Amino acid sequence: MSFDNLGLRAELLRVITELGYTEPTPVQAQAIPVVLQGRDVLAGAQTGTGKTAAFSLPILQLLNANGKAQQPGGGIRCLILTPTRELAAQVEESVHTYGKYLPLRSTTIYGGVSIRPQIAAIRRGVDVLVATPGRLLDHVGQRTVDLSKIEILVLDEADRMLDMGFIRDITKIIALLPRNRQNLLFSATFSPEIKRLANGLMNAPAYVEVERKAATANLVSHVVHPVDKARKRELLVHLLGEHGSKQGLVFTRTKHGANKLCEQLSGQRISAAAIHGNKSQQQRTKALADFKNGNIRVLIATDIAARGLDVDQLPYVINFDLPSAPEEYVHRTGRTGRAGSSGDAISLVCIDETRLLKDIERLMERPIRQEIIQGFKPDPSIPAEPIETGRQGRRPSPTPRAGGRPMVTGRAVARRTPVAAGGRPFDASRKPGSRGTGNEGRGNR
Ligand code: AMP
Repeated sequence: MSFDNLGLRAELLRVITELGYTEPTPVQAQAIPVVLQGRDVLAGAQTGTGKTAAFSLPILQLLNANGKAQQPGGGIRCLILTPTRELAAQVEESVHTYGKYLPLRSTTIYGGVSIRPQIAAIRRGVDVLVATPGRLLDHVGQRTVDLSKIEILVLDEADRMLDMGFIRDITKIIALLPRNRQNLLFSATFSPEIKRLANGLMNAPAYVEVERKAATANLVSHVVHPVDKARKRELLVHLLGEHGSKQGLVFTRTKHGANKLCEQLSGQRISAAAIHGNKSQQQRTKALADFKNGNIRVLIATDIAARGLDVDQLPYVINFDLPSAPEEYVHRTGRTGRAGSSGDAISLVCIDETRLLKDIERLMERPIRQEIIQGFKPDPSIPAEPIETGRQGRRPSPTPRAGGRPMVTGRAVARRTPVAAGGRPFDASRKPGSRGTGNEGRGNR
């Protein structure tokens, strides 16, 4: 399959060639032609699959159909909603890059930074607006943004937006859009809540489903290193040593854990920076830029902060702690082995995390290889303890298991909806047009 067969115009193909993309990824091959037809699309694809180009390229082509860029005051034509500021910035950067030979304008608005330059950018005229829901509503409240001319709506990483509690904001925003528009929804997982949102939003959508497991199974090699909790840091330093000077992303469960680890690594002369929700936008942008420039070797992140991070060709991701929700494992490890390069997904797992590991293996529908690193064999006399989540305090008390040692039970994150049993991202059996009531009459474009 080549990009030439997808119906994209020369200006876009030129950028694709310049970027060195030789062939479309599966989500691009499936989504680009249907988006170009003006259809609604419901796509199951996570970060690392090339989903940003899958919606940005055809959108730019559709918006450029009349060959004119937006004039000041002309109204925004495409709205892309993302869960985090980092993702908003990255998506806008991609839109900007892909559209460099087209006379279209884009900008991004998100919280944590001054609203004034955003207002000025919108006033100058924008075709594509990439926004996080909260800040967009701030603009709506101040009447600095006009959503009445939106032709295309994209919900990017819709599952994460719902996980982060944005459903009410999204509903409010959708109510402000013209009814006649094209809708694209991208999500890594399809919980009942996502399906409800999609049903209310979509008009006879085309379904695009990328093999979930392909992203994690083919290019990424997964390994678990069993280790005692108290020796994780020592093992991490050992593993970082094995990776030479290569950069890597390390995940911790809590912000406090990220800070502590960052200090400890820095103390051992391993350049590191932490990004998490308590860091200011400026600190987060700087840490990401330092990482991208190669000024720091290890980026330590919590799940929320890492959402949508697009760092090219990360050779490895280390789970210093396993995530509380198994879906996060897929998101985390999706950051290595991207777009054709291989990667290692390494997890340091202590006795307390046995149950979390089982949940992850159930979601992936296969066991993860275990390898004890010489000198780090876990001490079998150490009992399991409840896991600290940082947000909700301690997990439930351990329950005894066969053999006398307690095992932690229960799931820590109650807010998160698990994916459907069997791990299928969405119900492809649902017939187009069988959406719920409330939005009838909405045309395709
Ligand atoms: P995304 O899933 O949108 O976050 O994209 C993941 C990465 O894949 C980004 O760094 C893109 O630049 C890259 N990418 C997207 N499409 C292709 C392609 N067809 N070939 C090679 N790399 C790609």
